[in-house]
Amino acid sequence: MIYGKIFINYNNMKKINILGYTECQLIELFAQFGQKPYKGRQLFKWLYNKQIKSFDQMTDLSKDIRNELSEKYTIEGLRIANIAESSDGTKKILFNLSDNKPLESVLIPDGNGRNTLCISSQVGCALGCKFCATGTMGFIRNLTVGEIVGQLLAINKSFRSNVFSNVVFMGMGEPFNNYENLIEAIKIMISGNGLNISPKKITVSTSGVSPKIKKLADENLKVNLALSLHVATQGKRTRIMPIAETFKLDKLTEAIKYYTRKTDLPVTFEYIIFEGFNDKVEDIKALSKLIHGLKCKINILAYNEVDKLPFKRPSDEKVNWFGRELVKINIAVTIRKSRGQDIDAACGQLAAKVLTGEKNESD
Ligand code: SF4
Repeated sequence: MIYGKIFINYNNMKKINILGYTECQLIELFAQFGQKPYKGRQLFKWLYNKQIKSFDQMTDLSKDIRNELSEKYTIEGLRIANIAESSDGTKKILFNLSDNKPLESVLIPDGNGRNTLCISSQVGCALGCKFCATGTMGFIRNLTVGEIVGQLLAINKSFRSNVFSNVVFMGMGEPFNNYENLIEAIKIMISGNGLNISPKKITVSTSGVSPKIKKLADENLKVNLALSLHVATQGKRTRIMPIAETFKLDKLTEAIKYYTRKTDLPVTFEYIIFEGFNDKVEDIKALSKLIHGLKCKINILAYNEVDKLPFKRPSDEKVNWFGRELVKINIAVTIRKSRGQDIDAACGQLAAKVLTGEKNESD
């Protein structure tokens, strides 16, 4: 087939999955076809805004172009392997990726008929936080842009369009360790021609990779930032989050100040309470000292226990007490309910079980 001066031989070529291509990449692709840039934009809109799964349905592209695309490309969404539903309405979606690796997303009801969608950025995670099921898997691989965005597309398709109102990068993996793909995926999500999600509805949650916090601020995407803090003193934090050794609390608070200054957005500190570890008066004092002068809010929640890990869930009374003590010293705090305890909803638990099964089978 010839377009302009370019000859492309499609014989024996394996088709490429086009899902995950950015607007710029599609414009470039159409330039290679000798076509106008706006056609690349039209294809972008079909893929992410209209979420069409067949080139044949893209009626504002000529038949020749559609044939050309079908010969070389496919539109392959993620395959859902299992959906587990909790008695509290939380749904955990397990995907089976094209290389058979497991991936998780979680739909969490907000009580108003809408949901927050918690998505993953990596399969496994290298950071090895001591309380985390994903951390026990080790790092397997980064997700592609198509796999990050694909979680949203597959869930829209499987449930209903707009089943979620907020998206949080709090699933498997450290998003900042897959930085380039994270940024491209966010751009597809917030583009008016893409998924058209307001940046205010997107939160990137990090364990504390301070240089990337500053880098994200400079991208000017205006998405929300959350920091998984959990402990407000350096030595104790390092005991449960090895990354704290590399990115210390002083650098972290400096990066957070930079983020809030640049974006004018408050940062959310996530504080999971572990029974007997970070739930005392001294922990409240340390937290209050650390966040002094920062534009932030605190989310506290009880730990969801993970098989074979030593941390215990605190009582509801303990969590409520902790919250009340923070309010007394004028700290803005929200107590989050731990969701989906009956379906292993803590980050990475289902996927870790799939991987363990996979390992046992191959032993
Ligand atoms: S808590 Fe997050 S950063 Fe830590 S091991 Fe789990 S997935 Fe990785």
